[in-house]
Amino acid sequence: MTQITTHSLGFPRIGAGRELKKAVEAYWAGDIDRAQLQAEGQRLRRAHWELQAAAGLDVIPTGDFAWYDQVLALSATLGNVPVRHRLGYENQGETATDTDHQCTHTGLEETPEAPDGPCTQADLDTLFRMARGRAPSGEATSACEMTKWFDTNYHYLVPEFHPEQHFELSYTQIIDETREAIAQGYRAKPVILGPLSYLWLGKEKAPDFDRLDLLENLLPAYQTLLAQLAEVGAEWVQIDEPILVLDLPQAWRQAFERAYHQLQTPTLKLLLATYFGALEDNLSTAVQLPVAGLHIDAVRAPEQLLSVVDRLPTHKVLSIGLVDGRNIWRNDLRASLEQLGDLPERLGERLWLAPSCSLLHVPVDLEREQKLDAELKSWLAFARQKVTEVVALAQLLTPEPDERAREALEQSDRAQASRQQSERIHNPRVRARLEAVTREDSQRQSPFVERIRRQQSLLQLPLLPTTTIGSFPQTRDIRQTRRAFKLGQISEVEYQNRMRGEIADAIARQEQLGLDVLVHGEAERNDMVEYFGEQLDGYAFTQFGWVQSYGSRCVKPPIIYGDVQRPRAMTVQWARYAQSLSNKPVKGMLTGPITMLFWSFERNDQPMAETARQIALALRDEVKDLEAAGIQIIQVDEPALREGLPLRQSRWQGYLDWAVEAFRLSVSGVNDETQIHTHMCYSEFNDIIGAIAALDADVITIETSRSQGELLQVFEDFDYPNDIGPGVYDIHSPNVPSVEAMVTLLERAAQHLPVERIWVNPDCGLKTRGWPETEAALANMVAAAQQLRQAYGKTAAERAKQRRA
Ligand code: GLN
Ligand code: ZN
Repeated sequence: MTQITTHSLGFPRIGAGRELKKAVEAYWAGDIDRAQLQAEGQRLRRAHWELQAAAGLDVIPTGDFAWYDQVLALSATLGNVPVRHRLGYENQGETATDTDHQCTHTGLEETPEAPDGPCTQADLDTLFRMARGRAPSGEATSACEMTKWFDTNYHYLVPEFHPEQHFELSYTQIIDETREAIAQGYRAKPVILGPLSYLWLGKEKAPDFDRLDLLENLLPAYQTLLAQLAEVGAEWVQIDEPILVLDLPQAWRQAFERAYHQLQTPTLKLLLATYFGALEDNLSTAVQLPVAGLHIDAVRAPEQLLSVVDRLPTHKVLSIGLVDGRNIWRNDLRASLEQLGDLPERLGERLWLAPSCSLLHVPVDLEREQKLDAELKSWLAFARQKVTEVVALAQLLTPEPDERAREALEQSDRAQASRQQSERIHNPRVRARLEAVTREDSQRQSPFVERIRRQQSLLQLPLLPTTTIGSFPQTRDIRQTRRAFKLGQISEVEYQNRMRGEIADAIARQEQLGLDVLVHGEAERNDMVEYFGEQLDGYAFTQFGWVQSYGSRCVKPPIIYGDVQRPRAMTVQWARYAQSLSNKPVKGMLTGPITMLFWSFERNDQPMAETARQIALALRDEVKDLEAAGIQIIQVDEPALREGLPLRQSRWQGYLDWAVEAFRLSVSGVNDETQIHTHMCYSEFNDIIGAIAALDADVITIETSRSQGELLQVFEDFDYPNDIGPGVYDIHSPNVPSVEAMVTLLERAAQHLPVERIWVNPDCGLKTRGWPETEAALANMVAAAQQLRQAYGKTAAERAKQRRA
């Protein structure tokens, strides 16, 4: 039997102890200098290469290391640096300060937004200026936009495109690092994002042009880059085109052939990498491109494996992603071998094995976890363990697998068996309860019009009621108290007292401000998912399970490993206490089932819909308990609803159906008189407005302050039936919004929505803000509502008078 090649598509760069985060932040703060930062980066890269090679991987990725983001690094590499971020930008019209830079093009239009400044040469600080709007060197300016990387929680920096955009090799990090790896004896495979995905993921920054038209300009820069990578000794380059798993317009699909014909480099082999889904209608495009190999995701899309093999020209390598790069479960090696079937014989040495995608999306090393019990730990694999799984699979396909591989197979078998049988995972009570769920369970008793009438006669809220989204400033005091309690430094009683103090303070301030519907402030919560996950069966938490979210920001998603149920009430004590302090309604505050699911590592042994329904039932109990405790308004946040949308539009409806159903299941157990609110942190509702309406929440609050126009457009085309609070100011900024600005926003909203349906609120929770700006902003918000109440109240009275006359 011939040799199978093993490789990885990318390794997490943050370091098992988040060393990169710490180093980068220290550099920003001026605590270390550039050389120190670079040394730390080099140390981490070496450690990761060494670790992958020691595990037995044949080919090691380079270019997966990024100081902030790999798309950003590519922009710099290609010389696509916005003029405002270039060094010397402040010296408009003067000669560039650094004369070493070789600028080959002339005819400059040196206006701030022109695509071609004189000098595109980029360095570390250029990257940070693009990412954060500032760096130790250069002028502060606005950062590039950031957005989600496909359906992951990783955020990349959006490339900016102008007509006539010029591209040239301007930053050599990937070349240098590849040289570095090769010098250290590794078979290094640089990883770059392909030209079409790069263009697709960017944005036009001028009207009336199509970024696809930039392809011809872009390709020479890629050619130069590839040539240089070949020159430093790379044999293979992995060129990622993840957009091949999306619904692509015809023009984009067609552009692939043109592009890849031009990228052929005699001295270099290209491995075209796709991941996060199936190629489907892009399959023939993908298999026919003039490249030496193709990588496909056989975890997300196992069904495509055979059709790809059938269609792939026989001179090409097929890299199969068998180990899940998006989740933390130990691979079922036996099942993976079965999945491969006779492909090892059929493909021979054309077969490569890898994780399904870059390991960027999973934590670094399971071995660091000290608090997870042995059984749970035996079910898991982080990046480091996943690399060994790939190697084990390749070994197990040889006639005489080594000891390590045979042992790995045994462990894998044991883990699968214990997962299938464990009582910690399979809870018959949860199953029975789910089976007993009926259609009526996700149905409120009466339609909205009837409910709102009853709610209103009870709540007696004024026109344009004011409220907030839930959290109030998480002061240093609050965070210290939570930490002290967690570390056992203060007693439970002491903790309760201090938190009650915080709640009382928040209630008093809201009373003082004259808000209509109050919140308790969420002082006891560090994170809206973790807080509930910690109180639910079926959730586990790691100590070091960090995953990069963006730049130096990492998140530690919980792990849903078993059937979810709620052993006891989670928020009722706090809510009851908060309500006891005021005659105004205080909202109960929960995180919804979809958000609880998507902001965690989810189970891979049952459909997501099933897990969502389990969480929904647990929340349903909490909602009912809150109602029984006298809480008249309960908010169930679903900021993750939209990001759960599948990559392919054909799957949207299926997803939305179960997502909406899960939300409704969680809130429909209450009486008509209990008002259900929900909150979402975005306003791109156009494509899912039907589903939003189908949630049938009595009130929805949304983020609109930054994109009112967009949102209101939606309501012109769609008659949203229930109450809605379009956020009237941006909580992401410390600026205090003026009364007039908020009045204007509300007046605009009232042109599109019946004024009786409108609520007045900020656009998200206030936990990242300080009290002074929060109080000033809310005082203005209340004033704005009052001003409009008078105006609209008068017109309402006039209308009534006219009708009588
Ligand atoms: N209730 C949460 C808060 O105010 C909502 C947060 C969110 O939407 N992401 O913090
Ligand atoms: Zn929000």
